[in-house]
Amino acid sequence: LEQQVIVSEKLSAIGKLAAGLAHEIRNPLTTIMGFVQITRSRPLDPVTTRYLGYVHEELERVNNLVSDFVTMSKPSVPIIKPIEINTFLDSVLRFMEGHAALHDIRFARDYYTAHGEILLADAAQIKQVLINILQNAVEASEPKEIVTLKTRKLSNSLVITVSDNGIGISPENLTKIQNPFFTTKDNGTGLGLSVSYRIINNHNGEITIDSRLGVGTDFNIHLPLTCDNIKECSM
Ligand code: ADP
Ligand code: MG
Repeated sequence: LEQQVIVSEKLSAIGKLAAGLAHEIRNPLTTIMGFVQITRSRPLDPVTTRYLGYVHEELERVNNLVSDFVTMSKPSVPIIKPIEINTFLDSVLRFMEGHAALHDIRFARDYYTAHGEILLADAAQIKQVLINILQNAVEASEPKEIVTLKTRKLSNSLVITVSDNGIGISPENLTKIQNPFFTTKDNGTGLGLSVSYRIINNHNGEITIDSRLGVGTDFNIHLPLTCDNIKECSM
């Protein structure tokens, strides 16, 4: 309990900081990203174009980090709307493709949901979860490996799986990865998964993990497909 109090104090301090700074960070970031995009589209030597691509990816990363801090500081009730599953997942993969390319990783898809099938969820929040889990999968993988995004239906829920053949997670670390600030990376924040768990819990969903050290990891996101068990569902 004492540890919980310390964690929540830590979080509220971080939260205040995030709330105040997020806006101030985002505005110049958006301007910088705009000018990077414009500059990239001009005739330049290929090396400069490539470097500007890296700059853009890293700015995107900072932007996601700010999103995680903001979510951490003020957990928001999901705004539930119908989402066309496969189209939505494709758009998230497109969004993450640059990050994957930077690590020389390719995405594959393996959808068992039909075109046009609908999920009731908060698209922005689920996107944030997928970005975090895909980013982790990419970072855990060796160059040239493939990260697969799968879907299937299990009775009344949708299961979205992010599968990698990366380093895997030890049983000891598996018990810690949901904790805010737990990271094994030199430049990690340890916020991605704790934010993701929170978002999926707020959707009355669940995250399960299958992982083997040196073999790879599956992150399974279970989400209810019906409205009945979603709080404040407007459908
Ligand atoms: P961060 O990425 O900043 O470290 P996260 O909350 O996203 O924070 O992840 C916490 C930790 O969980 C990571 O540092 C890593 O040790 C572990 N982890 C998460 N996803 C994977 C994965 N796909 N393969 C191996 N380890 C992972
Ligand atoms: Mg992460």
